[in-house]
Amino acid sequence: MSSSSRKPVVYIISAPSGSGKSTLVNEILKSVTDLEFSISYTTRAPRGSEVNGRQYYFITRPEFERMIHEDRFLEHAQVFGNYYGTARKFLLDAEQKSRDLLLDIDVQGAEQIQRQLPDATSIFILPPDRKTLEERLRKRSEDREEVIQRRLDTATREIENYQRYDYILVNDQLEESIKRLRAIVRGERLLRAGQPLAEEQAKIVALANRCRLANVGDRLQPILASFKMAPLGDAHHS
Ligand code: 5GP
Repeated sequence: MSSSSRKPVVYIISAPSGSGKSTLVNEILKSVTDLEFSISYTTRAPRGSEVNGRQYYFITRPEFERMIHEDRFLEHAQVFGNYYGTARKFLLDAEQKSRDLLLDIDVQGAEQIQRQLPDATSIFILPPDRKTLEERLRKRSEDREEVIQRRLDTATREIENYQRYDYILVNDQLEESIKRLRAIVRGERLLRAGQPLAEEQAKIVALANRCRLANVGDRLQPILASFKMAPLGDAHHS
């Protein structure tokens, strides 16, 4: 799908922690060609089996601050008390290689990217409800109770931003979510190519369209209610 003349598609994926985002992102990277993962820089310590240069580049606060000073970040933000940032280099590399780029970043970072790259495609992943999110956070069990509560509060604040995203993916059934995320990624490429769609391609775009912000209203109301958020009404006219 990549051609030297094609502008890379930048995909932004955000989700509250515990939404199953990492699993979905890994599946997509395995099954979609010509898609690069933007490896962020962070000042948080590596967890479990994380390896420097694979999930993140783990650096110190002074190193991070030096990079900010040198204007090497496309965006950066503080999340849970640590710095996280996307280096400009990743976008330049993707452009040079004519490959698309996937950013796994929080809502603050997404806002910064949307301002700089209005053509970016943004996807927000939601848990099916608050109870499921809480269960998933507990199952990970690496976090203490107060950390779990803090993550739930943060999740609610992040979810309030869902209207800023082009697509909303409710991660209920993993296999179905993978299929939909793949359809969103491929569908955007097909639409941007501007060619008539073959039958199979039209099906991909149709599946992606079901996840568009304007088309998910009914599915969202019970989820928002479980987070005690009032339905925000006319989402797509915000
Ligand atoms: P974790 O520490 O659990 O891997 O990530 C915590 C949060 O930081 C997640 O919401 C993740 O998407 C976000 N994040 C990871 N990398 C970046 C980045 O480069 N920029 C921003 N703004 N957020 C990031």
